[in-house]
Amino acid sequence: MANRELVVLGTASQAPTRTRNHNGYFLRWDDAGLLFDPGEGTQRQMLLAGVTAHQVTRICVTHFHGDHCLGLPGVLQRMALDQVTGAVEVAYPASGADMFDRIRRLSLFRDTLTLRERPVPDAAAVLADGPDFRLETRPLSHRVPAVGYRLVEPDGRRMLPAELAARGITGADVGRLQREGRIERNGGVVHLSEVSAPRRGQKFAFIMDTRLCDAAFELADDTDLLVCESTFADADAALADDYGHLTAGQAGQVAAAAGARRLVLTHFSQRYADTGLAQLRRDAAAAYDGDIVLAADLDRVPVPPRADALYKERSAHKERSARSRSVRSSSAAESRIDAGRLAPTSGMMFADCSLSQASSTRCTETPRRRATSSADRGGVPDGPPNGE
Ligand SMILES: [Zn+2]
Ligand SMILES: [Zn+2]
Repeated sequence: MANRELVVLGTASQAPTRTRNHNGYFLRWDDAGLLFDPGEGTQRQMLLAGVTAHQVTRICVTHFHGDHCLGLPGVLQRMALDQVTGAVEVAYPASGADMFDRIRRLSLFRDTLTLRERPVPDAAAVLADGPDFRLETRPLSHRVPAVGYRLVEPDGRRMLPAELAARGITGADVGRLQREGRIERNGGVVHLSEVSAPRRGQKFAFIMDTRLCDAAFELADDTDLLVCESTFADADAALADDYGHLTAGQAGQVAAAAGARRLVLTHFSQRYADTGLAQLRRDAAAAYDGDIVLAADLDRVPVPPRADALYKERSAHKERSARSRSVRSSSAAESRIDAGRLAPTSGMMFADCSLSQASSTRCTETPRRRATSSADRGGVPDGPPNGE
């Protein structure tokens, strides 16, 4: 199990299919567990994926269409059943406060939970800013109030064991050096900068139902892992715009312009059979030459490992993407987030996490997959999206 990974609980927009549960995502980020947009059936998907109620430390809802919140009653009730005692923050668009209240009280159970509700305003906001990460939001452009989320780890420094050993610094002295920035040794002074190297903080963004908008680019800026809805293929771009969604190609454009390192496509319309989703990957790849993951239920997608070489590779990729970018106006480009401004310096670690290079792996209890037909979709015919 990676320290930082996305566990995909569901990938269907609007209505589940036989192979795809309603939306749902769990981001494991060290000791934190962020549950995003629990659609219907999320409680059981958590069970299949090995995610427990106790691992959820924060819930983030982008908006109150059913595929993003119908799982909340079950998840909250399960958390109470399992006697989760710690405080859990629940963020959602402020305009949906009444909706959340109804969802929480939808069924009868002994509600012992300590939920700290964080209604998100219809403007850029910061929900948390601590030593582990900063959590930001931006309003998106959907048919109902919707927000996207961005998690930013502060930059820090990585201790270099060889340099420490060469100077005879061990044990508690290492901690002292980290705290105080210098330490006396052998009649001289060793500064922190001599035995450590800059460590770039990692970034994650979660962009669900939206049209192409500046906020999507801002949220995605410089991310290591970007989860982006791609409800429609590019061939259905008119539908996507009508119903407030992105095409896969637009998701690729966002990832390319933002310099994202790994793009997870998800929230697929039921109109596409699983075998037809390859076209969505091609649409995204036409705009973005980075790592693309076509999400499937119960996938585990690691946050890519950080390494100086990879930073350089990413920078080069970002430059290439910037040159090929054509979708955005110059004024929109100017509004992008200054990543340095959003990443205060703090935090320390000995070595970079050595996560798997693989784009994704699958949980063991993956449901059997088969081609989707209208029967697979529960008899729901292809048609314009409604409430997704
Ligand atoms: Zn929606
Ligand atoms: Zn949706």
